[in-house]
Amino acid sequence: MAEKQYVYFFGEGSKDMRNLLGGKGANLSEMTNIGLPVPPGFTISTETCNLFYELGKKWPDGLWEQVESNLAKLEEKMEMKFNDKQNPLLVSVRSGAAVSMPGMMDTVLNLGLNDETVQALIKKTGNERFAWDAYRRFIQMFGNVVMGVEHEEFEHALQSMKNEKGVKYDTDLTASDLKELVSNFKAIVKKATGSDFPQDAREQLRMSINAVFDSWNNKRAISYRNLHDIPHNLGTAVNVQVMVFGNMGNHSGTGVAFTRNPSTGENKQYGEYLINAQGEDVVAGIRTPQTIDRLNDEMPEIYNQLMDIFKKLEVHYKDMQDLEFTFQEGKLFMLQTRTGKRTAASAVKIAVDMFEEGLIDKKTAVLRVEPAQLDQLLHKQLDPKAKSKADVIAKGLPASPGAAVGQVVFHAADAVREAEKGKSVILVRTETSPEDIEGMAVAQGILTARGGMTSHAAVVARGMGKCCVAGCEEIKVFEKKDYFTVGNKNIKKDDWVTLDGGTGEVFLGQMPVVDPEMSGNFGIYMEWVDQFRKIGVRTNADTPKDSEVARKFGAEGIGLCRTEHMFFESSRIKAVRKMIVARDEKARRDALMTLLPYQKQDFIEIFEVMEGLPVTIRLLDPPLHEFLPTSDADIVEIAKELDVEFDELKATVISLHEINPMMGHRGCRLPITYPEILEMQTRAIIEAAVELTKKGVAVKPEIMIPVVGILNEVKVLKEQIIKIADEIIRKNNVTLDYKVGTMIEVPRACLVADQIAGEAEFFSFGTNDLTQLTFGFSRDDSGKFLPGYIEKGILEKDPFATIDKAGVGELMKMGVSKGRSTRKDLKVGICGEHGGDPDSVEFCHRNGFDYVSCSPYRVPIARLAAAQAAIKDEVGEIFRDK
Ligand code: ADP
Ligand code: MG
Ligand code: MG
Repeated sequence: MAEKQYVYFFGEGSKDMRNLLGGKGANLSEMTNIGLPVPPGFTISTETCNLFYELGKKWPDGLWEQVESNLAKLEEKMEMKFNDKQNPLLVSVRSGAAVSMPGMMDTVLNLGLNDETVQALIKKTGNERFAWDAYRRFIQMFGNVVMGVEHEEFEHALQSMKNEKGVKYDTDLTASDLKELVSNFKAIVKKATGSDFPQDAREQLRMSINAVFDSWNNKRAISYRNLHDIPHNLGTAVNVQVMVFGNMGNHSGTGVAFTRNPSTGENKQYGEYLINAQGEDVVAGIRTPQTIDRLNDEMPEIYNQLMDIFKKLEVHYKDMQDLEFTFQEGKLFMLQTRTGKRTAASAVKIAVDMFEEGLIDKKTAVLRVEPAQLDQLLHKQLDPKAKSKADVIAKGLPASPGAAVGQVVFHAADAVREAEKGKSVILVRTETSPEDIEGMAVAQGILTARGGMTSHAAVVARGMGKCCVAGCEEIKVFEKKDYFTVGNKNIKKDDWVTLDGGTGEVFLGQMPVVDPEMSGNFGIYMEWVDQFRKIGVRTNADTPKDSEVARKFGAEGIGLCRTEHMFFESSRIKAVRKMIVARDEKARRDALMTLLPYQKQDFIEIFEVMEGLPVTIRLLDPPLHEFLPTSDADIVEIAKELDVEFDELKATVISLHEINPMMGHRGCRLPITYPEILEMQTRAIIEAAVELTKKGVAVKPEIMIPVVGILNEVKVLKEQIIKIADEIIRKNNVTLDYKVGTMIEVPRACLVADQIAGEAEFFSFGTNDLTQLTFGFSRDDSGKFLPGYIEKGILEKDPFATIDKAGVGELMKMGVSKGRSTRKDLKVGICGEHGGDPDSVEFCHRNGFDYVSCSPYRVPIARLAAAQAAIKDEVGEIFRDK
């Protein structure tokens, strides 16, 4: 039997083989194939990594031999030899999974150097400084990444050397300084690990490959995968590639670039480079890099070649690329390309532009923006009026847009701790590193003193859709002492600051924010979205203001208008309480009638905003005790106000107390006991509708009965509703269409949906309660155990955020099909939190729902998710680089 292929030479793979070769490896092969200047190398597959774990962290038979034979190919191509004392071949060892995962193993460069090969390098290049710089970098990277020596230790030694020599930058150190540093570094390794720095190149290579495999399961990687919903069984590939050197002097350098602006989407390359530098120097913020435009002045040939390559890559990949390059003594090499991460604003603009440029079709454009990402565009911006008057204390790079207001913290762990207390925090650091990811995830915004637009902070913040001001060199951050300075100001932990990630401005204090606009590219894009969408999108809104926002965002009606909040306003709560403590029906009815004009006015305002669109109004849902006080002191006061005895009110409070309110006297059970409540609400709805109809405003009310589980509940209540409604309509002599339907949120309702549909004209799945009751999880208490369920993998996702397809989803499908078996044209929607969750929207699309309904700010997200679901039906699943 032929041995399995574990190793692929660059050019043997292609961009479609990312599952096997990882994103980096697949694209290195692809770039090789389309004739770009890529230093040769080979990729060990992700399968090999998985096999390594299956074998208890051992290499499969034959792997080393395959590595050796690929190494031999490299040697032949380069006319160099690995571990050679005359002409040593040096390589980089790079991890790379199928989805890009910052936070896995850092790359090791210059592998193959040792005390002998470094001499050969000196002889060969005649550049002693370069050779020692390469060697000290190698020990530093290998020592840290492979041997586990603290990064800090090397940095500290480097800094001491700079101090001792009185220089600012590493480039100012001489060959002999660097040589001395090499021996210092070796001593550090020896002290920290007890072992000598390995001198054999093959041993170095073997150890590095192991380290890459190991890094798949380091803490950072696991937490990143958890945060981004990436499966834990993909494995990582290992890329071994011939080194090219950006640190060979002033005609060498290294850079990173995006083919378009990742922050705004502008169709102009965006990048940075550093002369005489290697690897991560650009993103690590050791010196502030030059923008790529400068390269046109300094090295026009390289610049032009680079521009050609950018074009070629965009036409080839048909998407914005994020790439890495290095030039060695005037010769350009490409080291990486991948789909560039971008802000939502940039994603939308690039999709619109690429369609207009003819690079992609409209369907592809609609698939290009991740629905959840749109959230960023719907987020608030700093109020321009307040901004014009505010004092800017510092200005950095506008690394990721949006506004962020919060209290300053200096450590990721503090960010997590304070955020858990419900505080809004801004993470301020000199620069960020992968260890800070969790802190960044909970912060409102991120501010760093060093690093460019492609620094770690900037890239990660854009990925998270989080406001970030990077490279704000005017500030000095003292993390250990929890403060930063700017000019003569000291800003301490917990002080408030405001960031504008779109301009890079930093303000002291809390500034007001305003709603965004739905125009420009976003408007165009959302129009395209609606061309593909098959199901409707409504909103959950209880006020005219929310309804207006939602309509602006494209809501096609209200799917859930809760009426209880209308009872809580200070002017009304007294009447509500009077109704509750009423001794008889008459007193109850009197109290309710004082509420009628208020409710009616509420509906008039909402109907006006939603003119022409359906409005689903849910009858009073919560148990009555929620409207009453609980403490004796409050009871005294309210008894006085209501003019009843303390004991009497207290007795009412006690009698209304429920052991399990979620399953108590609520929903349709209330009007079954107290028909007056339903009568008042029906009256308010229909009178409001009639009044507007007379004025020529088109109104489409839909009255929804909550918590139904029994056919007769609907039957009895519907009869009452119709009696009252029709009488009002008849008296006023108008034509008004209204519907009566139910919320489906009790499992029994799904089981007998065919019966219920005999009465109900529409179903709206209340998936919050349906999830609670299906699992028997109380939403209010599940915080105690649900996170553990997710962590232990007992549940994959929080069922309150994403529909549990296997359980709740099955009930929903049953509800829909049974319902439609009785009433063919039964209108079906969903109004739980899930209505704005892209995955759940897709589920609703697939299962014949007429619409989803979600909070106003999620309406555009639901529209896009619905359109993508429809397109995916046609073209199949799409791959999205996370
Ligand atoms: P990451 O996934 O963190 O970007 P990379 O493997 O891309 O890590 O490498 C880190 C840095 O080292 C990048 O700047 C990359 O361009 C550089 N690099 C990687 N391989 C080589 C090589 N063979 N020659 C020169 N530079 C390299
Ligand atoms: Mg890279
Ligand atoms: Mg409910």
